[in-house]
Amino acid sequence: MIGQHIETLDLDALPVGLHRLWLSIIHDGLGRQVRLPVMVAKGRREGPICGITSAVHGNEVNGIPVIHSLLQGLDTQRLKGTVVALPVVNIEGFILRQRRTDDDVDLNHRFPGKIDGREADIFVYRLMELVIRKLDLLLDLHTASFGRVNCLYIRADMTDPQTARMAYLLRPQIIVHNPPHDMTLRGAAAAIGIPAITLEIGNPNRFQREYTKRNVTGIRTVMSAWGMLPKRTVALGEPPVVCASSAWTYTDHGGLLRVSPDVRDLVKQGETIATVYNAFGDAARSYTAPHDGIVIGHSVDPVANTGARILHLGVVNQLPSFVPRED
Ligand SMILES: [Zn+2]
Repeated sequence: MIGQHIETLDLDALPVGLHRLWLSIIHDGLGRQVRLPVMVAKGRREGPICGITSAVHGNEVNGIPVIHSLLQGLDTQRLKGTVVALPVVNIEGFILRQRRTDDDVDLNHRFPGKIDGREADIFVYRLMELVIRKLDLLLDLHTASFGRVNCLYIRADMTDPQTARMAYLLRPQIIVHNPPHDMTLRGAAAAIGIPAITLEIGNPNRFQREYTKRNVTGIRTVMSAWGMLPKRTVALGEPPVVCASSAWTYTDHGGLLRVSPDVRDLVKQGETIATVYNAFGDAARSYTAPHDGIVIGHSVDPVANTGARILHLGVVNQLPSFVPRED
C-alpha cells in the first residue's frame, strides 16, 4: 500500500515535501489498526499549520478532490509552514457511503470526544489530540446531506476577525454567520483558539468538478493571506452574500414535495416556496417564505413525511462589522 504507516503525527520530524501517511487511530474487532489517510505538505520555511478535513460525514465527498488538487499542486520549496489534510475522516461511513459511522453515530456531534466512551467518542478524542491541536487554522469541508442540494456556502463565526477574514477570502457564494455549535469539529477547534470554518460544497455522494478549482483557489488565497504562499496574483471572485442567520422551513403535512425556488434564488416573504401533494396528485398544502431571504439549500427528495425539511433560508444582512476589509 502506498503511504507510510505512523502512530503519531510528528510534523517537526517530517522532511520538506509532500507526505502520504496512514495514521493509526483505533482498532477494529479483529484487532486490526484502523488508519486515517493523512496528506502533509511540509514547507521549506517555518509558518502556520493549516488543517483541512473532509468527509467527517462519510458520504460528503466533494472536499476530497479539493484536498488532492491543492496538496499535489503545492511547491513545498516555496511554502512557508505546513498543510495537514485528512481527505476522509469518517472512514467507516465513507466505505458504507453514508453520513454516520457504522455504529450509527454522527461524528460532527461528538467533538471534542472523550478519552473513554463509545468508539466514536474515543476516535474523535484521539483525532483532536493527534491532529487538530497542532493546527493554527482549520477548514472543515462538507456538502449537503442525502436528499438535499446546497450552494457553495460557509458557516463561520463572523464576529471573530480571523475567522471572518478566512471565510470572506474563500469567496463562497454565501456566508452564514453561525457561532460554533457545541460538539462540532469547528466548535471544538474554535474552543481551543483555532479559527475554523465549515465549507459546504454542493451535493452529497458525488464529485462536482466545477467546485474543485474554485475552492483550491480560495484556499490558496487564504494561505497567501496567512503568509504561507507568495501574494496571490489572481483577482478575488464576486463577494459572497453574507447572512446574519439562517433557518430551515419544515412541512407540517406528509406527501409528495415539490420545492419551487432553486439555490441562491432570492425570495420574498409570503412567496410560495413549496407544495405537498397527496397520493392522487392533489395539492394538500402549500408553504410560503416566512421572511425575505436567499435560498442556501433545499430538499430534492419528493417523499416528505410530516416534519420534512423544505428549504434552508438565509437572512441577508451585510452588516459592516461582518464584512472584513478587502486584502
Ligand atoms: Zn456534513
